[in-house]
Amino acid sequence: MSSKARRHTHKYHQVRVGSDNVWACALPYCSHYMPAHMSNMVPGKASICWSCNEEFILDPVNMKMEKPICSECSLIKSIADGNPELKHEDDTNKSHVEPITKNKLLDLFKE
Ligand SMILES: [Zn+2]
Ligand SMILES: [Zn+2]
Repeated sequence: MSSKARRHTHKYHQVRVGSDNVWACALPYCSHYMPAHMSNMVPGKASICWSCNEEFILDPVNMKMEKPICSECSLIKSIADGNPELKHEDDTNKSHVEPITKNKLLDLFKE
């Protein structure tokens, strides 16, 4: 055994370094972190949930948390809070109300 470093899934959390938020592993025997210019590498990485300690995959939604938790825990949490935050997904889901275009107006009068 040449190395003390154990193979593990990093437990990512955000730490403030200067003016940057850096994703770092919180485990005591690990000094892994993602430099700010590499933070686009973080989504899709496995991390350990800060609530249930199970492995889950980081994505742009759970990365809004300083200490990300898995989707199950965030669901439980939002129910417990009586304040579901699932509505944040609205952005992807905007209603496509088309303004009436000139052509459409002309169509109306065609017949
Ligand atoms: Zn680690
Ligand atoms: Zn969890």
